[in-house]
Amino acid sequence: MRPINAETLKASMMLDGLNMMLLGKKYELSDAMKTVDHAPTIALEPKKGHWIEYPECLAYAGALDSNYIVCSKCGAPFNIMKNEAERFDFCPVCGARMSDEI
Ligand SMILES: [Zn+2]
Repeated sequence: MRPINAETLKASMMLDGLNMMLLGKKYELSDAMKTVDHAPTIALEPKKGHWIEYPECLAYAGALDSNYIVCSKCGAPFNIMKNEAERFDFCPVCGARMSDEI
């Protein structure tokens, strides 16, 4: 996997497409693949989050009860009774590393 910026890529595709059009050519799939290949790789910072407990989790995930915790990064709710999880070290949905620091 090579992370790229989707917004930058869209702008590059539009620019490449316009340049091809000015040359009287069509911007085809093979051209789009080249644009993707030339898109710069971005550095990803590790996501960090924390578990939000009841009742604060209500603001994130709606009508939950005290059996739920919510990821501060993506808002995914987890039923800690059902999952029998003490606490995940990472959010299973977004991959954020969980810490006790807020
Ligand atoms: Zn998450």
